[in-house]
Amino acid sequence: MSTPDNEKFHFANNNIRQDFDLLTRAIDASVSGIIITDNREPDNPIIYCNSAFEKISGYTRSEIIGHNCRFLQWEDRSQKERSIIREAVSQGKSCTLEIRNYRKNGDLFWNELFISPVVDENNNVTHFIGVQHDVSQRKKVEQDLWQQQEVMERQIVKRANSLRESEVFLTSIIQTVRESLLVLDPDFCVVSANDHFTKTFKVTSEETVGTKLYELGNHQWDIPKLRELLVDILPTNNPVEDFEVEYDFPHIGRKLMLLNAYRIELEGQFKDQILLAIEDITEKREIERRKDDFLSIASHELKTPLTTIKGYVQAMERMIPENAGERFANMLGKTSQYLDRLDNLIAELLDVSRIQTGNIELHKMPFDFDKMVKETVDIIQSASGNHQIQITGNSEILVSADESHIIQVLNNLLSNAIKYAPKADKVRVHISKVSEFVKVSVTDKGMGISAEDQKKIFERFFRAVEIQQSFPGMGIGLYICEQIIKNHNGTIWVESEKGKGSTFSFTLPINPTN
Ligand code: ADP
Repeated sequence: MSTPDNEKFHFANNNIRQDFDLLTRAIDASVSGIIITDNREPDNPIIYCNSAFEKISGYTRSEIIGHNCRFLQWEDRSQKERSIIREAVSQGKSCTLEIRNYRKNGDLFWNELFISPVVDENNNVTHFIGVQHDVSQRKKVEQDLWQQQEVMERQIVKRANSLRESEVFLTSIIQTVRESLLVLDPDFCVVSANDHFTKTFKVTSEETVGTKLYELGNHQWDIPKLRELLVDILPTNNPVEDFEVEYDFPHIGRKLMLLNAYRIELEGQFKDQILLAIEDITEKREIERRKDDFLSIASHELKTPLTTIKGYVQAMERMIPENAGERFANMLGKTSQYLDRLDNLIAELLDVSRIQTGNIELHKMPFDFDKMVKETVDIIQSASGNHQIQITGNSEILVSADESHIIQVLNNLLSNAIKYAPKADKVRVHISKVSEFVKVSVTDKGMGISAEDQKKIFERFFRAVEIQQSFPGMGIGLYICEQIIKNHNGTIWVESEKGKGSTFSFTLPINPTN
């Protein structure tokens, strides 16, 4: 059976309509905003938009159809993207770009736009199809990232500038310090040397930089002990402190150098490096030696006539005539007293010079420790009316040590406790046995010592600034105490608070091994 022609046509027409409906529904369901403009009409009006475009733009179909797309840009007309679109439309070409558009409520949204021409059988552009996506979110993230990057770049530039400034600053310090400085890499090769180094050792930086420390000059730094200490610096961060090297250096002769080395930590690409500071202490040591020699000679020279004068005064005391007045006896008594003080001062100076030359002799014998403390306290107590010296605790032990030297230490601590606490009325002495040591603490409620001064208190000739005018002394008592205690393998230390008082303590091994 054949189908009549008009029925065939109707059937074909129906099929086309169905396909068209299907396509329209598909375009309508798309998440991309789609518009079609008619290029044959003046001003290229929009003739179709899908629901996604309505949603993106916020306008309804009826507000869109018939308009040119430019209504989406509102007043924001100076964007260069607009001329790209114009160009593409006039040349009937496609283009892809991102443009700022505005929703009906005025909110900005970034439109990723793809425009494509539709041509007829004569190659005339009849329509344009525009596909758009709201990429505001992505754009915002991009912009945030961009801003962050800008901020970071600015910070990096700032950091780099300040690093450059500090580098210049550091370099100028390194070049001007009056100490020779070397920077070493982990293989102990010289990375840099300052001017002072090249001047001191009369070398050039060419022959220094790049050479191993141990191969410099005639291998003057190739000392096994120094190698050992330097090897330790990088892994342990233990600095080398006050390492002395006395050597016949090429060009400059015999010198005494003091070495200090520290680990330099550099972040990032740099490896750890070592800063080696070398100080020429030849002259300083020579001056110290001369001072010590002078001290030793002066005290010996003073000691001899003083002993003779003391002998004469003692003889005079024994031969006071019967008819001599009380005043005469008093004057002799005072003379004898001042001679004793002078004798003590000279004895201290002699002690210092003996310590300096390593001639301090210890005669260790066992003695009753508590008894020794008590007798020493009694003697000091009898000469000091204002202060009550109180003994607490005990050790009940015989200690093997040089008793006269330990008495000297205790005497010194007690005299200081009284001297530097003139307004206080009590001094406390506490004895204890701690493990294989005896311990004595002398506490006063006097002027106390600042934390800064506490670090220097046992140094030779150190005296706190504020007491120098008002209290007599030479600043060597504590130095001698420390040397005596050290020579007994004990320790001596101070705990103090300015204005509140001080406690000086020392320990002694009960049965020393040597
Ligand atoms: P000197 O007493 O002759 O100055 P020392 O070596 O005995 O020498 O003491 C050193 C310094 O330590 C003193 O000058 C003083 O500044 C401080 N000092 C020592 N003992 C005390 C103390 N008990 N209280 C406060 N300061 C003290």
